[in-house]
This record gives sequence, C-alpha cells and structure tokens, in this order.
Amino acid sequence: AKNKGRNSQAIFQEDMRTHSVSQFQLEMDLRDAGEDQQFQLYYQPILDLNIGKIAGFEALIRWQHPNRGLVPPIEFIEIAEDTGMILAMGEWILKEACSQVQQWQQQFPQQPPLFIGVNLSSRQFLQPNLATTIANIVHHYRLDPRGLKLELTESVAMNDVDSAIQQLTYLKDEGLHISLDDFGTGYSSLSYLHRLPIDSLKIDKSFVDRMETNQENENIVGTIVTLAQRLNLDIVAEGVETIDQARLLKGLQCQYAQGYYFSKPVPRNQATKLLSQNKIW
Ligand code: C2E
Ligand code: CA
Ligand code: CA
Ligand code: CA
Repeated sequence: AKNKGRNSQAIFQEDMRTHSVSQFQLEMDLRDAGEDQQFQLYYQPILDLNIGKIAGFEALIRWQHPNRGLVPPIEFIEIAEDTGMILAMGEWILKEACSQVQQWQQQFPQQPPLFIGVNLSSRQFLQPNLATTIANIVHHYRLDPRGLKLELTESVAMNDVDSAIQQLTYLKDEGLHISLDDFGTGYSSLSYLHRLPIDSLKIDKSFVDRMETNQENENIVGTIVTLAQRLNLDIVAEGVETIDQARLLKGLQCQYAQGYYFSKPVPRNQATKLLSQNKIW
C-alpha cells in the first residue's frame, strides 16, 4: 500500500508539472496570438421572442491556436486577465464588434437597431479611462450607441462600486446599454440592481436549464422576469436549448432569449447569412 501511495504521489506531481508547463506555454502563446490574428469573434443570435426574429448578437471570443485547435475562452480569459493582456484584447474586441454591428445596421436596418453585446472583464473596469476609451471607439465607427450593449457581472462592479457607477453612468449618458450578466448567481443581486445604472438582466443558464421539468426553476425565472418588469429593465434568458424552454419563456413574458436551440455562436459570415435569411423562429 505504501508503494502504491508513493506512486500516486509521483503521478500527481507529474500531473501538476505538465499542467503548469502547459499553462505557461499557453501564456506564451497568448502573447503572440493577437499579432498573429488568431483571435476571432463569434456571434450568437439573441431573439426577440415577441416577433421570433434576431434582435442582436452576443460577441464571444475564440482562439484558433496553431496546433491546439480552438481554445475555449474559459481556458484563456483568466490568463489574459492575470497578465493584463485582457486590456489590449478587450480593446480589439470592442473595435471589432463595433465595426461589425455598424455594418450590420447599414445592411439590415430595423427598429430598434441591431445590437451587439460585448463582455467586459473586471480587469478592464479597473482602468479609470475605460468609459472614455469605449465612447471614443463608438464615435470612431460612427455607431448608433444603441448598437452596443456592455455585459458585465456583479463581480465586475464589486471591485470598486463607486468607480463602476461613475463609469457606467458616463456610458449610459453616451446612449450605450448596460446589461447585468449571469443574473441570479452572484451574492448581492438586489443591492447591485438598485445601485448600478443598468438597462437589462440576463437570466443565468442554470435557471433556464430544466425549467420545463422543474417547477422551482420555472418559478425562479418567472420571478426574475417580474422583477425586471417592475424595475423597467429588459430581460434576456441565456442557454435556451429546447423549444419547450423557448415557449415557457415567451409565456412568462421574457422578451429576449439566446441559446443553442436558436443557434450556437457562429463566425461573422454565418451570422450575416442568418440575418439575410430573415427567418422567423
Ligand atoms: P457568458 O458571457 O455567460 O457567455 C455565454 C456562454 O454560454 C458562451 O460560452 C456561450 O457559447 C454559451 N452558451 C450559449 N448558449 C448556450 C446553450 O444553449 N447551452 C450551453 N451549454 N451553452 C450556451 P463561451 O463562448 O465558451 O464563453 C464562456 C465565457 O467566457 C463567457 O460567459 C464570458 O464570461 C467569457 N467570454 C467569452 N467571450 C468573451 C469576451 O469577448 N470577453 C470577455 N471578457 N469574456 C468573454
Ligand atoms: Ca455574456
Ligand atoms: Ca452569461
Ligand atoms: Ca458566465
């Protein structure tokens, strides 16, 4: 038994070593990825359930690694945050998304105009000039500001609430839309709802999951929708995977929904194709 114990210890150490080596390698590779244009934005449609049409998209970053293939964001966003690389990456994401939605707004005019949701990380929020940087990008691309929705989680705001309120208020005055992501999973949802100048809530996927078989989940979703209505906020359900979920959400008067049932995140050309098909879901 002693021998076996030592073996598994050795295996464990070996495991740790390869893990940290590959993390380190990933960090090195990440430094080159931007210059080598290995990043790409994918776009996932957000549906207006009242009319069954695309109202906008969420931009989600993808890393096409030269030999690892597609690396999902959970494997590199944190590294990018810890190293500060997220700042340059975040600016690139905002520019790319603004330029894209501006083109789509021209090509597919609709009221209200098509929008793109862009995720912001807490590290970006610690930059005192974040709001002016974003406003400059919006001006540069002559974008109708209603076309950019900033998605942030409560933890983003929690680092420095006063500064977050100040920056968000500035952006809201510029006409941008602020969205609270993963709603319901944080610690003090209600107090942040009250203090932050936000325009919409995104109901976390974990509540949408199994809402068609679990009454409790359905009740939670219904309660969040009512809360949003009372506070005059838009509401988006995330992670909709089945037609039953989509129907239930519509019945609960949840206006917007996004998820694999409608479409996975897709590259820009495929997103353009979805828009030109003008499909009714
Ligand atoms: P998030 O902001 O909550 O994004 C939603 C995630 O759910 C995306 O994963 C999306 O592909 C996935 N998703 C959408 N519909 C469904 C569904 O029906 N079923 C399931 N199982 N999943 C669904 P993704 O693209 O892997 O991104 C994961 C997280 O990485 C994001 O969570 C966000 O926190 C972060 N992230 C992604 N792109 C960016 C970015 O451009 N900037 C920043 N700062 N973070 C990003
Ligand atoms: Ca998001
Ligand atoms: Ca989310
Ligand atoms: Ca999330």
